[in-house]
Amino acid sequence: MQTDSGANQTGLGARGDGPREISFLDPESGVQMVKMGELTFPPRKVWIKTFGCQMNYHDSERLLSHLKDLNFTQTQEVDDADMVLFNTCAVRDLSNNKFYSKLGNMKHAKARNKDLVVGIGGCVAQVEGKELVKKYKHLDFAFGTDVIDQINDMVYRTYAGDSKFTINSWDRNENFSIETKITQDSPQAFVNIIKGCNKYCSYCIVPYTRGKERSRKCAEVVTDIKRLVEYSGIQEVTLLGQNVNSYGHDNGENLAQLLLELEKIDGLQMVRYTTSHPYDVSDELVAVHGEAKKLSKHLHLPVQSGSNSVLKRMLREYTVEHYLGLVEKLRKAQPEIVISTDIIAGFLNETQSEHQATLDLLDQAQFDFIYSYVYSERAKTRAAALEDLLPKDIKGERLREIQAYQLAIQAKLRAPLVGKSFRVLVEGTSNMKGIKKWKGRTNCNRIVHFLPPAEDRDFQWHWVDVEVLSATALSCQGQLLKDWGTRLP
Ligand code: SF4
Repeated sequence: MQTDSGANQTGLGARGDGPREISFLDPESGVQMVKMGELTFPPRKVWIKTFGCQMNYHDSERLLSHLKDLNFTQTQEVDDADMVLFNTCAVRDLSNNKFYSKLGNMKHAKARNKDLVVGIGGCVAQVEGKELVKKYKHLDFAFGTDVIDQINDMVYRTYAGDSKFTINSWDRNENFSIETKITQDSPQAFVNIIKGCNKYCSYCIVPYTRGKERSRKCAEVVTDIKRLVEYSGIQEVTLLGQNVNSYGHDNGENLAQLLLELEKIDGLQMVRYTTSHPYDVSDELVAVHGEAKKLSKHLHLPVQSGSNSVLKRMLREYTVEHYLGLVEKLRKAQPEIVISTDIIAGFLNETQSEHQATLDLLDQAQFDFIYSYVYSERAKTRAAALEDLLPKDIKGERLREIQAYQLAIQAKLRAPLVGKSFRVLVEGTSNMKGIKKWKGRTNCNRIVHFLPPAEDRDFQWHWVDVEVLSATALSCQGQLLKDWGTRLP
């Protein structure tokens, strides 16, 4: 069987005219082999470490799907790996530091196993790939965010002896066309609908690591998701983009239209989308939140700060008043909607009153949960060009204050969940003080844990109804009411 992944596509799905993977059974050993060009690939293992956002996890799944065609299977044990890949994130200090430490450790792994191949992809590789390949002798290759689908060509090159290269070119095609690839045995899939970002928020590196916005055609996304539902058992999709709300602006389509098209797909139970930019949430999209039955009743809408002067320094293009107006419209259109957000604590020279404005916003907006971070400067961004006089310890204090303030709001918001029942899709188990509990996500993205009626019953990917017995700011404990199995009637 010849595998031809994306030969007729453009954008991320594009590959050149090079050799393709041909899978065959070795007549002597009976082992599945893959021939590509001059090389034969025996079964090998890849260990992949992903940092950062859902887009990176989605890209890693894409990498694994391609590597399967080259006879690689994923291993969770780095010591078993023939190849190690890092999919990197340039957005936060923490991920960055973890990545550099793990990359440094690979030096010892390579000393133990000289055949080990080490590659890095993602946002750090896009901007620093060349320097890193030069600096780290044990690093074989680096590749950027727009060449994911060329991974097998790069691995081929490495095994052919051409190591120490970087590919971080931008895809210049007008069209962005791909087919979603999934490797996990799950009914949930991420579907990339737009890549890049045109916003240039002053603190953000993404426009430099992911390039300009380009959207897939609505018809292509619908066909792609229909195929996933029909042939891969997918029941829940999360539409992905750095700014998913500007989907279609480049080709005359929009997210609201796409969501209404997805409503028509039989067998698709749930649609989520992330990440949103408040400036691009249209009235049409707000209305769809009231109408669409498959659309999740949770929206993650990053506000970043409750101060207009900070928002201006961040180049966010909206005011607090605009944001709160949006929240009000969304709640009017869909009274059950749950809204979460991102907050950056201690942004560039933030004053105490600007910080207080963020605490005030938490009161006004009543978010269901927040992701909050201390501002960390990213090289090459506009904010990095300005001197930041705010001491690190004050930034940390402000973050802790924001988090404690929000936790009190969350506890209050979640207390009334007790006694209510929810349908959840069970995603796995967690060990809670030595007790195994199953956990699932409600339509509005809250996790509920429940005890199985019998220890050995398997609820993985079942739809179940649960009643919430207790709720804190961070978790809900429930009891099983009904098990619908893996398909809803
Ligand atoms: S909208 Fe702003 S924060 Fe989001 S990816 Fe684009 S530049 Fe970064």
